[in-house]
Amino acid sequence: MASVTLNKVRKNYGAVQVLQEVDLNIADGEFVVLVGPSGCGKSTLLRMIAGLEEVSGGEIHIGERVVNDVAPKDRDIAMVFQSYALYPHMDVSKNMGFSLMLKKAEKTAIASRVQAAAKRLGLNTYLERLPRQLSGGQRQRVAMGRAIVRDPKVFLFDEPLSNLDAKLRVHMRAEVKALHQQLKTTSVYVTHDQIEAMTMADRIVVMNDGVVQQVGPPLDLYDRPANIFVAGFIGSPGMNFLHATFSKTGKADAVLADGQKLRLPDGLPLSDGAAITVGLRPEHIRLSPTEGLTAEVEVVEPLGLSTQFYARTEELELCVFAMGRPTVKAGDVVRLSIDPSALHVFDQTSGLRLN
Ligand code: ADP
Ligand code: MG
Repeated sequence: MASVTLNKVRKNYGAVQVLQEVDLNIADGEFVVLVGPSGCGKSTLLRMIAGLEEVSGGEIHIGERVVNDVAPKDRDIAMVFQSYALYPHMDVSKNMGFSLMLKKAEKTAIASRVQAAAKRLGLNTYLERLPRQLSGGQRQRVAMGRAIVRDPKVFLFDEPLSNLDAKLRVHMRAEVKALHQQLKTTSVYVTHDQIEAMTMADRIVVMNDGVVQQVGPPLDLYDRPANIFVAGFIGSPGMNFLHATFSKTGKADAVLADGQKLRLPDGLPLSDGAAITVGLRPEHIRLSPTEGLTAEVEVVEPLGLSTQFYARTEELELCVFAMGRPTVKAGDVVRLSIDPSALHVFDQTSGLRLN
């Protein structure tokens, strides 16, 4: 096992810079997820760690070693892709053992490592099947088995579950997490799915447009997003954003576009009239008989365990999440109260967090 360190790593294709300077320290044994919208540079970064893509600037370390000029096969990494990339004419056992065969490992050693990996992944009874005789989930397990058999220092995953249906994806993400808890191999996992990132990661790296936006444990990102991008990207249903003006006549308030006021947390470094964006998580908004914003319920979505509804005034729309089955229906005029300590306050121009 090994740590992975990126020092000011950059990538450009000709004049186009697709990754700004990335600094990242991944600890030995850590499971780090790179997440961000399509095209933000996740695969490029992963492929540079793998050595499949040249680095335009900066240094990549795997363990103590700078690997910028080390060939992929000598980096002691194993990669799992979205397209399982199995050899169609080889059975499961050969697919899994192939890299060891290339390394001229002993036949019995290969067989025992293939057996052990197959057992771990529940593939023992499929060893003689060809890839086309397997389901998507089984193929993805073979691709993971092939990586495990090599016992690499680092696993690199590029959207490995994206080809699976929703239910299997949920199942497999738990499997991959359980596998990491057993093997404890340093892992870098790329996905565009923030729920996958939240559920699997020790730490998440949120990227946008080739720039790292924030790095941290899932709940830190959820509770204290560093900017509006991270705030909107992490969480489902997503955070509500309201444009407002800061007012300090008395206590600190946000004056919303429709004139209503929202009490803000104390101690914000703002002067009267500053343009802010207030972020409210749907689950922090409560129905109240007497206080809070006044809004009309537009749509109610009963989910059984919980209820989601949308409420609006002329200027604002809010998504509200409540556990259970609150008695609201479309057309109701409700009061919605929010604890100031649960608010996120951002600078409207820079998008940066202020509280
Ligand atoms: P992601 O994996 O986050 O979806 P990628 O890392 O694949 O994003 O791509 C990042 C950006 O780099 C994209 O804008 C993409 O168009 C660009 N890009 C990727 N490969 C090349 C290439 N070979 N030449 C030019 N641009 C590329
Ligand atoms: Mg990609």
